Amino acid sequence: MDFSEPSEAVQITQALDDFIDQEVSPLESEYEEFLGPDYEKHIVDENHRQVPEYRDIVETIRKKSVEAGFYGMTMPEEAGGGDVDILTRAIVGEHMSNRPPGFHSAIFGGAGGPTPILLACDEDQREEYLKPLMDGEITTCFALTEPGHGSDAHYMDTTAEKDGDEWVISGQKCFITNGPYADFVMVFARTSGEDGDLGGITCFLVDADNPGFEVGTIHRSMGMTPGTHSELYFNDCRVGEDKVLGEVDRGFQSAMDWIGGGRINIAAGSVGTAQFLLDMSVEYARERETFDKPIGHRQGVSFQLAELATDIEQVRQLYRYAAWKMDEGERARKEESMAKLRGAQLANDAADIAMQVHGGAGFMKELPIERNYRSARVFRIFEGTDEIQKRTIARELI
Ligand SMILES: Cc1cc2nc3c(=O)[nH]c(=O)nc-3n(C[C@H](O)[C@H](O)[C@H](O)COP(=O)(O)OP(=O)(O)OC[C@H]3O[C@@H](n4cnc5c(N)ncnc54)[C@H](O)[C@@H]3O)c2cc1C
Repeated sequence: MDFSEPSEAVQITQALDDFIDQEVSPLESEYEEFLGPDYEKHIVDENHRQVPEYRDIVETIRKKSVEAGFYGMTMPEEAGGGDVDILTRAIVGEHMSNRPPGFHSAIFGGAGGPTPILLACDEDQREEYLKPLMDGEITTCFALTEPGHGSDAHYMDTTAEKDGDEWVISGQKCFITNGPYADFVMVFARTSGEDGDLGGITCFLVDADNPGFEVGTIHRSMGMTPGTHSELYFNDCRVGEDKVLGEVDRGFQSAMDWIGGGRINIAAGSVGTAQFLLDMSVEYARERETFDKPIGHRQGVSFQLAELATDIEQVRQLYRYAAWKMDEGERARKEESMAKLRGAQLANDAADIAMQVHGGAGFMKELPIERNYRSARVFRIFEGTDEIQKRTIARELI
């Protein structure tokens, strides 16, 4: 058994650190207002849309990331990617999260960037969507959740009906990451079957300027970059047969085949964030004195840090094991969910402990802890809630 990090992961993290120093940090210094205590006021306008200056920074980093070969690095070579495996991607993700909030999140494009779901594109779709996406020229979004259905997304109300050689999509999606800015949407609609059937759902590629498509309210959210999520409306939105991604009626199943990697990335990101908060807290516990002694000399403080360090190591090994199994082509459904479940809780616990150890200073916006405290909460909700992960683990057991 070999617990060392793959050499490719070590090389990529070093190259990323250099890239951040050279390309990202100067922008962070120049546009401090987008990262400082009042970042939320500066990033969006009165309609909660991200302001052009902020969008430009995201685009600049994306284009530089394409040039440097980081963008889309997990995609296969035949799609223009770097063929990086799941374990390496996750270790890199952990490393990237082990730093204060910054613009580095734009390097991989997040939900707007390349996704293996699009490997189902046919030749023409590859030219029209996948290639420009890989080149950082356009962005996308994944539109599954609806006001009436989230955990049970396959009970969706959005439908697509055939009319001649066109499909007519009708419905509403919500909470969609990058929804306000995506150039095209991967939207899921029921095309046959009954509520709750996994089959009978089709994925369509809908251009943002397609008649009948509209971005609705941009949500106000907790702790995340403001102006990122929105409702999407499809009002008799007509698209040609050439906009079907993959096979008709098989969209949901093929999308679900790729979701596991996302769960592992959340677990890995949680470990990185927790490590960042632990390191900050250890340093503070060494320096901060009360009653004439560093607070780290008190078990009331040091045991909190010991517990957190132990939890971090547990989740680190768990997500790496799940990723390794996936890379080996083994079924890892249970381990992915275990890693996501524990990782999400870890990120929240780490922010809570870091705040407690820092006392009042941790509560103030001058330090990044309170932002982490708010942004960690979503980990227990998106990409499958805690309860849905437990449901999956239980199903695998019983
Ligand atoms: C910041 C953010 C970004 C998102 N981005 C996207 C995106 O880009 N694309 C997209 O399609 N969606 C996105 N989502 C939606 C996300 O995937 C859903 O919010 C999530 O799946 C939960 O669905 P829901 O909100 O409808 O909650 P519900 O499904 O209504 O669940 C409500 C509560 O009931 C519990 N529950 C539900 N069913 C069960 C059960 N069987 N057993 C036990 N407990 C249960 C849940 O765990 C939860 O606690 C995003 C959400 C957020 C918050």
